[in-house]
Amino acid sequence: MAAIRFAVSRTYNRRPVQPIYLDNNATTRVADEVVEAMTPYYRDLYANAHAVHSLGRSAHSAVEKARESVAAMIGCEASEIVFTSCGTEGNALAIRGLLDAAPKRRQIVTTAVEHPSVLQLLRALASRGDIELAVVPVSTEGVINVDVLRELVSDRTLLVSVMQAQNETGVIHPVRAIADIAHEHGALVHVDSIQAAGKIAVTASDLGADLLSISGHKFHAPKGIGALMIRRGLKLTPIWYGGGQELGLRSGTEAVPSIVGLGVAAKLAVAALPRMDDVRQLRDRLESAITSDEVTVNCASQPRLPNTACVSFHGKAGDEVVRALDEVGVCITSGAACHAGSIDPSPTMRAMNTPLRVAMGAVRFSLSRYTTEQEIESTIRVVRDEIHSTIV
Ligand code: PLP
Repeated sequence: MAAIRFAVSRTYNRRPVQPIYLDNNATTRVADEVVEAMTPYYRDLYANAHAVHSLGRSAHSAVEKARESVAAMIGCEASEIVFTSCGTEGNALAIRGLLDAAPKRRQIVTTAVEHPSVLQLLRALASRGDIELAVVPVSTEGVINVDVLRELVSDRTLLVSVMQAQNETGVIHPVRAIADIAHEHGALVHVDSIQAAGKIAVTASDLGADLLSISGHKFHAPKGIGALMIRRGLKLTPIWYGGGQELGLRSGTEAVPSIVGLGVAAKLAVAALPRMDDVRQLRDRLESAITSDEVTVNCASQPRLPNTACVSFHGKAGDEVVRALDEVGVCITSGAACHAGSIDPSPTMRAMNTPLRVAMGAVRFSLSRYTTEQEIESTIRVVRDEIHSTIV
């Protein structure tokens, strides 16, 4: 690994007052309209959404209005939406809830690049003997090997769980083709659309999803709220019990302000989808301006999320690149945010068999609809000045 020299005191004074935030796949800023819509539900309309009095009824109707907006965003019926606390919970409810409800089939098929909330859960279930797990490999460009998947899926398969878009590389997966294979064998399909929602179209019926999870904080809603789409007629068993809220599948007093925020964020995301073309242009400009023989874009040849640039500084440590950019006020991440702090290549890079000196230097720039041209031009300058010149 090359030695890295960063002139911390030299660069510190040039840190912009307002950091440039390019870590939107980790989480996003809450939209102003979302904060505004949520505020009355903290201050005045704070009743329990199941209370029979007028304040309770107001809270209830706000929850149902939000349910409709979320359903419209992902192309399903409002009655198919269950609010969850986050994407991790939605993924867990989909997998555990289905497994407990459908004891006959025990095989679950997934891919090597799923988020840990899916992959680690499935590995834990397999190690306890609760399921038989089959993990489909990906190519060096992060593409799921659909031929292998076709061989693995059989009449014993309960579920195929696949993400719509990969959080580190941004690669968009052929979910519909995968869903068709699963359905031919009577298996169900769970789609983790957590990283896709708000960046590209997410339409449950087009994707062939029986279950589909999203998470608000990835598209300018607050942290701590998400949703799981459960196709009508599909039976799940709750993973926890209590007051029977959310179709009896997710007991616990509804987080009304957060649900309202999720509904508004969903509407805003749908309206802003055409603007993701501008985001793609900014991402492309960033990529083309900072790449060289030794700085390359991972999975560049694949269909990718418009906001995501997974860039490798060959022979460098991704964490050091992140720290150096942080010193000059640019926030990015190395590997997935959940793995930040580790200098091991991320599991995604390992699954792609990326050569070590490329994998270790992988960092992710992720833009949002709030990212400006000026921010991208400043980032380009900073990467050229600080990273290209200070890493020796
Ligand atoms: N799935 C994917 C693809 C993700 O990117 C993430 C978060 O990074 C999650 C699941 C987990 O979502 P949450 O942080 O809302 O639990």
